[in-house]
Amino acid sequence: MHRTLVAAVAVVALIAPSARPAEGDASAAREAARSSGAPLVVIDPGHGGSNVGSMGLGGVDEERITLTVSRMLRRRLKLRGMEVALTRERNGYVTLSERVRRANAAGARLFLSIHGNTSPGHDARGVETYVAAHEVVDVAADRAAAAEKDPVAAIRARAQVRQVAADSERLARALQGRLVKVRDGDRGVRQHAWDVLDGVRCPAVLVEIGFIDHPVEGAELLQAETLRRVADALADGIGDFLAAPAAPPQVLPAPRSRPVLRAAAGPRR
Ligand SMILES: [Zn+2]
Repeated sequence: MHRTLVAAVAVVALIAPSARPAEGDASAAREAARSSGAPLVVIDPGHGGSNVGSMGLGGVDEERITLTVSRMLRRRLKLRGMEVALTRERNGYVTLSERVRRANAAGARLFLSIHGNTSPGHDARGVETYVAAHEVVDVAADRAAAAEKDPVAAIRARAQVRQVAADSERLARALQGRLVKVRDGDRGVRQHAWDVLDGVRCPAVLVEIGFIDHPVEGAELLQAETLRRVADALADGIGDFLAAPAAPPQVLPAPRSRPVLRAAAGPRR
């Protein structure tokens, strides 16, 4: 227990207050990304303020661990030439919809929400990465289509939402693939109706970097070295995602007036 508390203090000490508000950080990063052409990554340190999240070993709040990893990840991505904004810079309360709004306003190339897991028996361990639930994507596609007056624009808007969802899954697999190289326990890529992923207009995922209440894994996640390795893995996963060629755009259905080609007609040149 004493070792755990010492480790907890080490994590807390890593989190120094920052003078820069998240909003200013996001707009500065947006402008820098515009002028340099570098991809802008928005990192969302889960929870904060009155929303402390779950409690880990040694009484360390989830929000402290997520903010620490987020800052470590920001440093690594900047070293790779990316622009980075955090949705919060300190232990402050930011609503989930505001986090989504900040990512969209910043014109993020991708969005990553970082969390620590817990289980009722404090006995689960491992890493998992989430994308928005397919039903949430369906509703978002309907909403995007309904906002368009022109039927072709509506089809395009719907396809755009589906493309972002497909890219989110690609991002999730890239991150999970790297996380399982540094952490035990592959819990896979999953879907869930997380509010913080609903309405993000770029590839968006939520990573659970481990169970902070597990007697072994939770203690490991209080070690700065473990968090550095997690941040390394997340940076590598983002690098993998950005380096891989994007999936081809979805084939759009023809406008309703266009006749369906018959397979028997064969190709014409
Ligand atoms: Zn959480």
